[in-house]
Amino acid sequence: MKCRVCGQPASISLRAYNTALCADDFVFFLERRVSDTIKKYHLIDKDDTPVVAVSGGKDSLSVWHILNRQGHKADGVYVDLGIGEYSRESLEKIKKTAETLQCKVFVFHIRNTFGRGIDEIAKATRRVPCSACGMIKRYVMNKVCIDKNYNVLITGHNLDDEAAALMGNLLYWKEEYLWKKSPLLEGHEGHLSRKVKPLFLCSEREMAAYALISGIDYIYEECPFSLHAKSLTYKRILNSLEENSPGTKLQFIKGYLKMIKGTEEAPKNITYCSSCGYPCYGDKCNMCRLLDRFHIGNKIDFDVYG
Ligand code: SF4
Ligand code: ZN
Repeated sequence: MKCRVCGQPASISLRAYNTALCADDFVFFLERRVSDTIKKYHLIDKDDTPVVAVSGGKDSLSVWHILNRQGHKADGVYVDLGIGEYSRESLEKIKKTAETLQCKVFVFHIRNTFGRGIDEIAKATRRVPCSACGMIKRYVMNKVCIDKNYNVLITGHNLDDEAAALMGNLLYWKEEYLWKKSPLLEGHEGHLSRKVKPLFLCSEREMAAYALISGIDYIYEECPFSLHAKSLTYKRILNSLEENSPGTKLQFIKGYLKMIKGTEEAPKNITYCSSCGYPCYGDKCNMCRLLDRFHIGNKIDFDVYG
């Protein structure tokens, strides 16, 4: 198998595109795909001040790397969930990447604020860990944007993540989420930052190959709470469809993007938290309620590395 561009031996076959590429041409291809997505969906402008939500995994560290290579000077933000070795190793990889990129990373340690990890917070509040985690992450990452003057939050969601989420929303007809899967979510000036997903059209396999070829040192283990997630089942089903009919995932997401016309508007009819100003649907946001629940003042501190 030869590289479609240069004729040298190919390193990766991309059946969805009916092509094969060598390592160098694959890196060029993937980075181009990211910059085309950014341009086409107006995700990041040259005057923007972006910050990347990093987890230590291949997608978020790769998108951080790509954006900085493409001249979007982006810092990072990480929420340390306090899950033993998994969280420690993730933070090490993130600090190392920050150093390589010569960027800052803001770190919120859940244990420092709450005196317990995400699993104990979830138990005490009768939520599942992923629900407590999602709420805290959304809040903390937005707070970094608002307090530290970053106007756009970048996430590393890839094509497989988006296709699996869309499949789940369709299967259960979750109409409240169904039309809210776009590469760009507008913010609320001074309260909620814009969120964008530059890897929306890059598959999990492509991102793993990119990280490997580019020498990005990421954590291979998944979060222990992800093991029974329904999204993994949907990903397996979508991969088997992809195996039989290459390009299925891409068509699924591209067709969806055509229907929603690219942009998701910020939620309407919302109020702002009386304590912290975060958008919410009642008097107080869920994060302030959680802080109240554990009798903690509403002071959210970050460590800064880099
Ligand atoms: Fe958070 Fe882990 Fe659940 Fe992902 S799998 S939402 S990181 S607790
Ligand atoms: Zn609040």
